Amino acid sequence: MYNIEKIIEELKNNDKFRFKHSIGVMETAIELSELYNADVERMKVAALLHDYAKMYSNEELRNLVKTFDLDLEPMIIEIKDLCHGPVGAELIKREFGIDDEIILNAIRFHTFADRNMSKFDMILYLADLIEPNRRKFKGYHKIKRLVYKDLEEGMIAALNKSIEYIIKKNEQIYVESILLRNKLLEKQ
Ligand code: FE
Ligand code: FE
Repeated sequence: MYNIEKIIEELKNNDKFRFKHSIGVMETAIELSELYNADVERMKVAALLHDYAKMYSNEELRNLVKTFDLDLEPMIIEIKDLCHGPVGAELIKREFGIDDEIILNAIRFHTFADRNMSKFDMILYLADLIEPNRRKFKGYHKIKRLVYKDLEEGMIAALNKSIEYIIKKNEQIYVESILLRNKLLEKQ
């Protein structure tokens, strides 16, 4: 359905580090998709392209938000770490002609959690966090173990980690991530 080889060729223009990360995310996301019954073919595309907009500066991203007329909360536009998801989804739509909302949504949400995340979205979010090249962060093995044991438990652990990190930096917390965490905790 999708030309994975061609996408990989395209990504080789990225710097080495990002290329390695994208391949790592794809491999982890394939494993998780097989484990939790998500569409592997779509997941490969989403994983490979999830950081497509990461090469842009804050200013460039902000300009792209304007150009594409994206309806985003101010907080997401301000923070590069959050903004490259939705901008990336829009670029992929335009440059690769991918209009599959399942793929695009997972790319949008990979930078900020949302209470409406699907299983597919969560797999990409978590694969981004636990792919092997990221194994050096504190708590990596614990989160990875939980993700492979139970996807939602893994997601709660990942959200805890991310919220702790934001609190340490004394930054604003995106409310949707708290709503998702509450929703998942309620189901436990
Ligand atoms: Fe990213
Ligand atoms: Fe990433």
